[in-house]
Amino acid sequence: MPEDNAATGPCWQERVPLAPANHAPLAPEYPWPDGYQAAMFLSFDVDAETAWTAKDPARYTELVTMSYGGYEARVGVRKLLELLAQEELTATFFLTGWSVEAHPAMADAILHAGHEIAHHGFHHLMPQPGDPMLVEEVDRGLDTLKRRLGVIPIGYRAPYGESCEELRVLLKKRGLVYSSSWRDDVRPYRHVLADGAPGLIELPVTMTYDDWLFGLSHRYSPRPMFPREHVLSIWKDELEETRAWGGMVTTVLHPQCSGRPMRLKLLREFLQHTRSLGDVWIASGRQIAHHFALCEAASER
Ligand SMILES: [Zn+2]
Repeated sequence: MPEDNAATGPCWQERVPLAPANHAPLAPEYPWPDGYQAAMFLSFDVDAETAWTAKDPARYTELVTMSYGGYEARVGVRKLLELLAQEELTATFFLTGWSVEAHPAMADAILHAGHEIAHHGFHHLMPQPGDPMLVEEVDRGLDTLKRRLGVIPIGYRAPYGESCEELRVLLKKRGLVYSSSWRDDVRPYRHVLADGAPGLIELPVTMTYDDWLFGLSHRYSPRPMFPREHVLSIWKDELEETRAWGGMVTTVLHPQCSGRPMRLKLLREFLQHTRSLGDVWIASGRQIAHHFALCEAASER
């Protein structure tokens, strides 16, 4: 039907410009601090029940589905905090505002253990351009972290790892310093907004370290379960080569998955392996973003 093609042609041209979606220049090759050869951004996403209600609030009445998320507050976060204390590691926890409101003792425990608290939306809604909830998700999340925990976060990870220009501009306006959602690099870089202004620092992510892909299955999120040997093989190989490149890896670990006994054992082994290498900086997002900002300022002098 030629008429239809004629109508849709210009529309596609407008909607998909002939340019890359990310205008940021290539990541600068700043050295890691203290002689480290590579870095690991150790981070956890505490979605709790919002992982399940974000796509349909009616699921709140499906109590066994809710119990997947509820595991975080009852068991998962506590066991992960124990592991981090044993390994003497400081991590970043991205929390949804709802998780903080519904599970204040869990959020307090993370804070009092000395870990970084960062922003992960309120209801874990996927950020989409033009969505009236987009601003509310950011502002209600900020309000909850401040009111409940006294925290003004500097880090943000987008629910479902999605973002848009409106959100990038809003995060900068609200004073966030770094984002950890993009998949397009192995080193930190500075975002460039559509108007050419500098945006947040990006601490990029790879799906390799998203534990949900390997260890959590449900009828709303059906996936194969991977045994320890397979996950360790994937995680170690990615780390080994990234280390050789002098880059960074970012973990995206969910307490409803990695707080399970077998998964926690696997994570312990992986963290001990990483530490044994001796030259991988295991750090929070705040530390890595701070280091990037220092190097950036020094390079501009
Ligand atoms: Zn999440």
